[in-house]
Amino acid sequence: MGGKAVAMYSPAYSQYTFSPDHPFQPKRLDLTMELINEMNLLLLEDLTDPVPALREELLLTHHVDFIDVVRRLSQPEEEMIYDRSGMGAGEAISPQKFGLGSEDTPVFPRMYEAARMVVGGTLKAAQLIVTGIVSHAVNFAGGLHHAQHAKAAGFCVFNDAAVAISYLRKNYPDMKIAYVDIDAHHGDGVQQLFYSDPQVLTISIHETGRYLFPGTGKIKELGEGMGYGYSVNVPLEAFTEDDSWMTSFDRVVIPCIQQFRPDLIVFQAGCDAHYLDPLTHLSCTTQIYSHASRVMHKLAHQVAGGKLLVLGGGGYDIWRVVPRAWTLVWAEIAGRSYEEQVAENWIEKFQGDSPYPLPRLMSDKIDDLPKIPRRQVIEEKNEIIVEQLLSEICWLKRKRKTTDIIMNIGY
Ligand SMILES: [Zn+2]
Repeated sequence: MGGKAVAMYSPAYSQYTFSPDHPFQPKRLDLTMELINEMNLLLLEDLTDPVPALREELLLTHHVDFIDVVRRLSQPEEEMIYDRSGMGAGEAISPQKFGLGSEDTPVFPRMYEAARMVVGGTLKAAQLIVTGIVSHAVNFAGGLHHAQHAKAAGFCVFNDAAVAISYLRKNYPDMKIAYVDIDAHHGDGVQQLFYSDPQVLTISIHETGRYLFPGTGKIKELGEGMGYGYSVNVPLEAFTEDDSWMTSFDRVVIPCIQQFRPDLIVFQAGCDAHYLDPLTHLSCTTQIYSHASRVMHKLAHQVAGGKLLVLGGGGYDIWRVVPRAWTLVWAEIAGRSYEEQVAENWIEKFQGDSPYPLPRLMSDKIDDLPKIPRRQVIEEKNEIIVEQLLSEICWLKRKRKTTDIIMNIGY
């Protein structure tokens, strides 16, 4: 399975930092790129520089007032005094109205520039794919799926995925796009922005919103108007493990993508479903990241001419989880085989900074996992949810059994 892949990367991505003790730490990108490199999975020609998104590009998704407020709030105070822009210096801004200034999504200096760079990376990745320069492009800085039309939310200032999808919808009106989101949190922002658009299928598999931000992502959220049926949600029980996660993913994602037949797939690979993640309650291992990437990669070649845009997202154990999870994603998308042993050079380089012993293997040993007492109940609940969901998706013809479908993509 071929197709040239590139990775969007710039040291400027590290400017997307809310504060030194905030859970969202862009250092995870550098740890990831270092691991990819030390695992001999990176060639110089794989790397592509992002360019900051233009204001007009942000306007494809975001409200003008919100964009202007982000821009104004992100200037250091001394510059705001001399602000000659339309809004006028000294005029009171209420950041809370735009989802900013909270503990989750505080204002930080140069926030506008930093957030524009993330969006620019995803947008350029989409452009490289749609113009046929590459088949696959990866922007691990992106996947900021919670940001809304006129509001920042959940560590996300601008919604890079939505801007890229809007750009494609505007410039290629016949194009159908599938967005598949495996972050442990519901991909609410992207879902909402395309809720009535039948040409954008959004699928999010996540921990149930009963106890977790943002609280949405129920199976009954199916879209509206012409878009009814094209928002798909798989809310999983807390403490779901690999087998149940992968079964649920396959049973929904594979038939939906095979029948929807998108022209391009966007894959948000947030890696906070891992059992070590401090913010969520799923109990998966790095295995699901290899698995989901392999399925998305195969589906992209099977139905979308190989067009696959891969984004990052959540992932808050930046030492033990994110670098390995995203290295596995990259290896799959770039079509390169990797050693099971984590590169010794990488461990030596970062062990001193890490508060935990760094893992020595790319996969997690099942013995490492804490025992899940209600395993069978959890699996059964997930099965019921998947069944109910599949029966709600009006356009999905369910003639074939899942096992046949899985055979069809060859594993
Ligand atoms: Zn998340």
